Amino acid sequence: MHVPSSIETKRDGGTLTAAEIEALIAGFSRGEIPDYQISALAMAIFFRGMTAEETAHLTGAMMRSGRVLHYPKGSPPKVDKHSTGGVGDKVSLLLAPLLACDGLWVPMISGRGLGITGGTLDKLESIPGFNVNLNERQALAQLEKIGVFMIGQTADICPADKKLYALRDVTGTVPSQPLIIASIMSKKLAESLDRLVLDVKFGSGAFMKTKAEAESLAHGLSAIGSEMNVAVSHVLTPMDEPLGCTAGNALEVREAVQTLQGSGPADLESLVLDLAGCVSGTPRETFQSWLRDGTAWRKFVALVEMQGGDSSALERLTERYHPAPVLFELRADADGFLRKMDAGLIGHACVRLGAGRAKATDRIDFAVGCSGIKKTGSRIQRGEPLMTVHARDEASLQEVLPLFRQAVEIAPG
Ligand code: URA
Repeated sequence: MHVPSSIETKRDGGTLTAAEIEALIAGFSRGEIPDYQISALAMAIFFRGMTAEETAHLTGAMMRSGRVLHYPKGSPPKVDKHSTGGVGDKVSLLLAPLLACDGLWVPMISGRGLGITGGTLDKLESIPGFNVNLNERQALAQLEKIGVFMIGQTADICPADKKLYALRDVTGTVPSQPLIIASIMSKKLAESLDRLVLDVKFGSGAFMKTKAEAESLAHGLSAIGSEMNVAVSHVLTPMDEPLGCTAGNALEVREAVQTLQGSGPADLESLVLDLAGCVSGTPRETFQSWLRDGTAWRKFVALVEMQGGDSSALERLTERYHPAPVLFELRADADGFLRKMDAGLIGHACVRLGAGRAKATDRIDFAVGCSGIKKTGSRIQRGEPLMTVHARDEASLQEVLPLFRQAVEIAPG
């Protein structure tokens, strides 16, 4: 095939054929088509979009770039959730073990941080020893034992998404509906799920800025799932302020641990319970009791241990393993109500502190981010801390402080 012609077709607003898309993805996965051509193609898709048929072909080609999971006959229903990405979104760390407590199988394939949104894999890797690269045999053996695994795209499973995801993250091509749909659904279809719930986010800290855009994305994702016989449900959730009270990798794992031990923030626990109810008929109160009585926490510890992680590190992750050298309390400059805590600006600031990537080869700084983020609607007194910024050094702190300050708005009253 002649790759430049396909790029030009898309650049000029044309339609790619199924065979062209299959060849592009297969060639890219095998390393025969270089990153610069696929980056150019991604940018053309970003500007020109794709038809529903092209998006379906792209999803299928990406799914077929690796293996599709097969399960033993008579095994429990396979369920999963996927979020389209937000700031402070650590839901997967809670929901995966919680659903496994219900006797369901949760074969979760996640991604890394993308743009300003954090990624489950990066968060998990802040746990010393945690291995997100199980092969298919190891992953299935783990499902049989504890009902849950949390891994990334591998050389076996969705390798095309693994490569394309990393390219999109650093080429300004993340917020493209067809690319998001193909990325999410190729991973989820490779899991051969029975039920999938999608948490489609909208707002300043999400890729979709409006509810209408989020609806359209949810529709596109669901249509592809239904075609492949997966029962897909979705919730549309606002992402104007960070979820919970932390943003940043180790800080978010710490908050997830607290929530699994029954003392997490209300917005986080409530979203986890809403999503659990979308893929299971078990009463909300039962799921809530598993978050409060240690059942879900014990399942998370088992998951960490089976994937090579040091579970004894979980309760000391930010203090002992990833302490940030510089802490700064951002304080209120007036009395009133917290009107805004802008997730988009906080996400950008966290990426610039080192919690996300600017180049595909960048290493994540697990320690940085912010904690103790106040929730909008709270009554605030002048001088009260609104959040604590965790930075690697004074220079990076000073660089991002204006963004954090800009993120906050206090209304008189
Ligand atoms: N999550 C993914 O897996 N892919 C995207 O493109 C966006 C969110």
